[in-house]
Amino acid sequence: MVPAPPTIVHLDADAFFVSCELARRPELRGRACAVGGRERGIIASASYEARAAGVFTPMPTARALRVCPGLILIPPTPGLYGEVSARMFDLCGEFTPWVERSSIDEGYLDLRGKGLTDEASVSASVRRLQARLWSELGLPVSFGVAANKLVAQVASKLRKPRGFVVVRPGAEAEFLAPLPVGRLPGIGAKTEARLVELHGLRLIGELQTLPDGKLEAAFGSGWREVRAAALGTDDRPVVTEIGEARSYSQQETFASDVCDRGQLIQVLKGMVDELLPKVRRDGKRVRTLTVRARFPDFSEGLRARTLPVATDLEAPFYPLLEPLLTAAGAAARPVRLVGVRFSGVEEGGGQLELFGETEARRRRLARVRDELNAARGAGALRHGHQLANPGDDT
Ligand SMILES: [Mg+2]
Repeated sequence: MVPAPPTIVHLDADAFFVSCELARRPELRGRACAVGGRERGIIASASYEARAAGVFTPMPTARALRVCPGLILIPPTPGLYGEVSARMFDLCGEFTPWVERSSIDEGYLDLRGKGLTDEASVSASVRRLQARLWSELGLPVSFGVAANKLVAQVASKLRKPRGFVVVRPGAEAEFLAPLPVGRLPGIGAKTEARLVELHGLRLIGELQTLPDGKLEAAFGSGWREVRAAALGTDDRPVVTEIGEARSYSQQETFASDVCDRGQLIQVLKGMVDELLPKVRRDGKRVRTLTVRARFPDFSEGLRARTLPVATDLEAPFYPLLEPLLTAAGAAARPVRLVGVRFSGVEEGGGQLELFGETEARRRRLARVRDELNAARGAGALRHGHQLANPGDDT
């Protein structure tokens, strides 16, 4: 009989902020780089090359520049990290609907229901996701695959960057035993130092076998949880956002590069008009609009604006398209691809009508339009700007 494969995945992007920046500036790959503020700032994220030179987070920038004089300091890009994070979890969502986001660059996936029956197919499948994150987003991500969240999390952090560690179900305790106690989630550097100093406890394996009384002396009333963790037991489920759209997005690649700004705005408006009815249908509202442009040299511009309140109407977003497209760098360059994305998804029900009467009226109109379109086929009733190109109105 084939043993059951591990089905819980923990993913953790490597040097996330720096990696987001390097995806846009690949010429800096392999160099000692860090994202951080220059004036009295701190280092928020350091490349592995910078880490090798002694740069850590959070270290004052001034000190980082002293320990690593050649350090390339990159100022943080507003909006970029959230957007890359959203795209990372979108790709995960295409892989499995069971996605739990635990931070901007870490999360869990549950592969049950994917029909993967053995360890080899699980590995191959997760490795394809890892390869996609690298090829499509330029993002190095480490993966741990195990029978539960705790062991998957430890595994993902073991061989960074772009690590890939699978722990066979049943081998949890054996896997954890030789690792330092600080590898156990919840045991920080200070606790680890105290455990070594006061109790001579260095390895997780020692926490597995230490007599109850001694473990209690070291950890107090929580010692049973420590024992369970050291043995690699964990029954927390992956808490997924299934059924809840995390974002609404659309993009279009042109057959030939487009220079005409009017045409680009037209395409973007069309996307807004296709996505907002979906937002209304799901009973949601959205707050943030991101416009993306890709250029013939494959560099990309990305700019986002967040409304003061979430809405499910098209109108508040139209005026943002042109400035965002310009800010994304599409003012004077041919464009190969444009896309829009709505994030900051909120529940639509029971909110105050902060835009007052006008918004209430617009919403009623929007609903009527959605119903008509649903009844007569999409496009039965269009916005004025959608009729600008009568040629394609078939
Ligand atoms: Mg990370």
